[in-house]
Amino acid sequence: MTGTWLLRGVRPLGGDPTDVLLRDGRIAETGSRRNDTSGAQVLDGDGLVALPGLVDLHTHLREPGREDAETVASGSLAAALGGYTAVHAMANTDPVADTAGVVEQVWRLGREAGHVDVRPVGAVTAGLGGQRLAELGAMAESAAAVRVFSDDGRCVSDAVVMRRALEYVKAFDGVIAQHAQEPRLTEDAQMNEGVLSGVLGLRGWPAVAEEAIIARDVLLAAHVGSRLHVCHVSTAGSVDILRWAKAKGCDVTAEVTPHHLLLTDELAATYDPVYKVNPPLRTAEDVEALRAALADGTIDAVATDHAPHPVEDKETEWAAAAFGMLGLETALPVVIAAMVETGLLDWSGVADRMSTRPARIGRVAGQGRGLEPGAPANVTLVDAAARITVDPTGLASLSSNTPYVGRALPGRVVATFLRGRATVLDGKQA
Ligand SMILES: [Zn+2]
Repeated sequence: MTGTWLLRGVRPLGGDPTDVLLRDGRIAETGSRRNDTSGAQVLDGDGLVALPGLVDLHTHLREPGREDAETVASGSLAAALGGYTAVHAMANTDPVADTAGVVEQVWRLGREAGHVDVRPVGAVTAGLGGQRLAELGAMAESAAAVRVFSDDGRCVSDAVVMRRALEYVKAFDGVIAQHAQEPRLTEDAQMNEGVLSGVLGLRGWPAVAEEAIIARDVLLAAHVGSRLHVCHVSTAGSVDILRWAKAKGCDVTAEVTPHHLLLTDELAATYDPVYKVNPPLRTAEDVEALRAALADGTIDAVATDHAPHPVEDKETEWAAAAFGMLGLETALPVVIAAMVETGLLDWSGVADRMSTRPARIGRVAGQGRGLEPGAPANVTLVDAAARITVDPTGLASLSSNTPYVGRALPGRVVATFLRGRATVLDGKQA
């Protein structure tokens, strides 16, 4: 479905209705209704909110290695259906994305699928081993042009290795995205450490295990003058540290997941492993602090941490189950519920935290721009008044570990355009 599109009566960033003409991969014009549609395909977008295509900084596509859980094609289709036009594919695949060869393979698979721009993340250390730096320069110079490096799933816990990585990526404007989890403080940890973990008899995961690493890393990044990005911030204390670091002028950015904006540790009382995630769900006070930090910009971005797992890895007893939950196809509705319906963010704020800032952090060219003429035609149309009921059998992901089964959530992605080409129409693959 390539060609010229006239989006009739859409509301850019929730503003006044207008027509938007997409032509030659760019936004050609915006303005009042025209009768001459100049051969364009017309989409009646009456009242739909138009956002710049969403950009995810944190997606697990599982390929190569765990194609039973997700593939680049299935995960990137799930992304398009969720309103995304670009995702960053995490490096903890098998083999690990720690060489130019693997990141180019993932990048090529993304191009072939064509649903979104797939931006591979490179591992920081060889084999995610935490000891020896991976081929950071070769990955940056590869066809995949990697700019985000992360051992996500594991923390770069050795301070000397972290310092070297921060220093190394300065040469090509890269960023280290840290999974902040002090390993010794979280051995066998199962859920947020608190009264409830004691009651349930599950090993606690203390907030300080996250906060201690973030505090160390903002100081290290400032010391060497490099960029740091903090993955999936989950505690109120982490927010305090980030606020302090930004006030001091540190070049640090941070993300929060949709589930940490909506769900709390009390769900662990069900012993349903669909709620087992890394970092764990925290308290209602933490959720409140995360929402406030996303609203005031202390937390820069929403990132899904989309973590598909096959049934046999999730539908088992809590202690044996894998960490992680799906995110791509429900992220925007969850953010609308947590942030828009609560009055904490308006639509331009949603566009900023889910498109503009993540694109800037990842140095993703041609993404995260506004909806003004001349910008690349990466556009998402949302029916904000609709509600969706999450049905795991209806998801494009190959896995079904969504924590929102049966939940009604606000907002439905109606259409997604990637450089003027419809990837999603009427809520389905175009
Ligand atoms: Zn992680």
